Amino acid sequence: MFSSQGPMDSRRTKRKAEKTEVAEHQNKPPHTSPSLPTEPALYSGPFPFYRRPSELGCFSLDTQRQYHGDARALRYYSPPPTNGPGPNFDLRDGYPDQYRPRDEEVREGLDHLLRWLLEHRGQLEGGPAWLAGAIVTWRGHLTKLLTTPYERQEGWQLAASRFQGTLYLSEVETPAARAQRLARPPLLRELMYMGYKFEQYMCADKPGSSPDPSGEVNTNVAFCSVLRGRLGSHPLLFSGEVDCTDPHTPSLQPPACYVELKTSKEMHSLGHWRNFYRHKLLKWWAQSFLLGVPNVVAGFRNPEGFVCSLKTFPTMEMFEYVRNDRDGWNPSVCMNFCAAFLSFAHSTVVQDDPRLVHLFSWEPGHPVTVSVHRDAPYAFLPTWYVEAMTSDLPSPPKTPSPKD
Ligand code: GDP
Ligand code: MG
Repeated sequence: MFSSQGPMDSRRTKRKAEKTEVAEHQNKPPHTSPSLPTEPALYSGPFPFYRRPSELGCFSLDTQRQYHGDARALRYYSPPPTNGPGPNFDLRDGYPDQYRPRDEEVREGLDHLLRWLLEHRGQLEGGPAWLAGAIVTWRGHLTKLLTTPYERQEGWQLAASRFQGTLYLSEVETPAARAQRLARPPLLRELMYMGYKFEQYMCADKPGSSPDPSGEVNTNVAFCSVLRGRLGSHPLLFSGEVDCTDPHTPSLQPPACYVELKTSKEMHSLGHWRNFYRHKLLKWWAQSFLLGVPNVVAGFRNPEGFVCSLKTFPTMEMFEYVRNDRDGWNPSVCMNFCAAFLSFAHSTVVQDDPRLVHLFSWEPGHPVTVSVHRDAPYAFLPTWYVEAMTSDLPSPPKTPSPKD
């Protein structure tokens, strides 16, 4: 996880220093809780092992946010014909009448993913032993970890519980994030609508058909892919929402056929582009790289809210835009930090107890810290999940009771 730049000697010295640090870390008196630093310079070593994620399955959420164990919510990439007049998408069309936003007060935690896992745990390659060593979470949570070394605005909190060996990570909305959400300016609310509206212009419901941008924009609807991967020594089982699949690449199996759609402001100066590469492209890269989505298609909106140009950014080429930028980001730093956090969490959450929560908290400019909690409000593994997984264990042989 540490720098390997420079000659062997300096590398060895650095390793030694690192070991000493770790040792000191462990020798600290028990009342100082451990913490994890987030400075990019600490994570600039070689890119860690990251297994190309493979799809295990999927599920859909409908207009009422109800779970279905199938791909009914998957949409099909259907951009305007390249020989035609080019796009002219009015992203504000239908706002606010046609907007049906998801109720953000409902805390879903990992519930939908846990339901998928409960229904498919018997079919996992590697069996219960594999799951017992895995980390289960949402892709979006991993995205936040990847971008942490470069994030200067928003902190995060991740709740962690170990249960039957598996480490579960579920985000907690920070008080600041909650306050921001409740005070969300109307313009920001409209911008959120516009992002979903863009998807409507670019996606069809069936492989052969064209987009129908007339209907409601209901953000309860989601198609989620469930994947298996590995970062460093950590097996991962995670799920992420996928915008659409490209029906023109039938040979490609998921996630290689998936496409991520984004909107961004039209840019008119090199300074605008530089900023875009430094900040937005980092978030786009982190999100799509994790899931193995090969392309992000951006729609650039003008001040009137119309998309008149599109550009495809291959995920694996995004880093090229900042490779020679001193103020750019580095994929190795992102992945090394994420791996270090997972190791930190793994060694911190030792007790196997679904009601016990280690809360990892981070604010920009500070290290990640930990606090320990039991039951409400932080425990997040639902009773239905814990009970189903517990009754599932090979039950001990019945010993005859005295009555028998
Ligand atoms: P993303 O990468 O941030 O889009 O998140 P994921 O792809 O990991 O999505 C995981 C689940 O969280 C899906 O069911 C999404 O519909 C849901 N989700 C994504 N973003 C948000 C959000 O901002 N608020 C809430 N409440 N749910 C979200
Ligand atoms: Mg999108």
